[in-house]
Amino acid sequence: MPHHLVIFGRQGAGKGTQSARLVDALGVVHVSTGDMLRAAIASGTEFGLRAKSIMDAGRLVDDETMCAIVNDRLAEPDVVDAGVLLDGFPRTPAQADRLVVMLGDRAIDRAINLEVSIEQVTARMLERARDDDTPEAIAKRLELYETQTRPLLEWFDSKDLLVTVDGLGTEDEVFNRVCSALGNITEVGSPNHDE
Ligand code: ADP
Repeated sequence: MPHHLVIFGRQGAGKGTQSARLVDALGVVHVSTGDMLRAAIASGTEFGLRAKSIMDAGRLVDDETMCAIVNDRLAEPDVVDAGVLLDGFPRTPAQADRLVVMLGDRAIDRAINLEVSIEQVTARMLERARDDDTPEAIAKRLELYETQTRPLLEWFDSKDLLVTVDGLGTEDEVFNRVCSALGNITEVGSPNHDE
């Protein structure tokens, strides 16, 4: 059965790296809204231009637009067949509500919370210096994460779907923690059928 997973973490927590490894291990499709928006920017569409100014300011693209983009992606055959790791979505309570509707009878198996402190992620981001990583934008994103996204962790936790993993350490160390937190989901070839 295809898996449906969500990964959470502050900007700079290492979500991108761990997502790539999980996708390799599980064969699910990586749906990263940040990557999708960066592709829109690169393609130079009017939407891309608008998204760029929002992202550069550290603000969020509106829920309607994001839900429409994700809804279309989740309906594509590769996702339907192989399942998904959602990265960057949902980011607000409204997006989480809509996600449940979009997935329909495709249940979310787990939400992974990659936990790295504000001090640590700030230090990492100042080191990597991506061009939308101005100190103001970083501060704004971290603030929005606390106010908009963190409450979603409580929702997943209340449904017993949340696993929290310490994101400090080498890539391998963190990935091993993610795998053990996911338990049988990452055991290759362990069919989840009852028959
Ligand atoms: P980060 O660098 O914080 O890990 P992403 O690469 O996921 O973030 O996204 C980069 C930017 O794209 C965000 O700061 C935000 O402006 C925009 N964005 C991405 N996903 C969403 C979303 N689900 N809702 C609103 N805006 C989003």
